[in-house]
Amino acid sequence: MSEKISPVRMCIVCKSRLSQESLYRFQVKDGVLKPFDKNGRSFYICKICIDGNQHKLIKTLNSRYGLNLSYVSADSEILKEILLNG
Ligand SMILES: [Zn+2]
Repeated sequence: MSEKISPVRMCIVCKSRLSQESLYRFQVKDGVLKPFDKNGRSFYICKICIDGNQHKLIKTLNSRYGLNLSYVSADSEILKEILLNG
């Protein structure tokens, strides 16, 4: 009865189904990638995708959300920052 069940969500990059705890929640607002602020639509990215090769991550975000992120600019730093603070 007291068993804790963590909801399962899918990482949009690698399509892995993981417990919500091992995923980071983001949103795109006005074309900008942000941590989810509990308003509007959101999506999940797993720790492995954020920490690992970001080419696929950036590519997925760009094509899916019409963004123009670049992994050589500060955009990937945003992800790292979220990872550290969130
Ligand atoms: Zn992933």
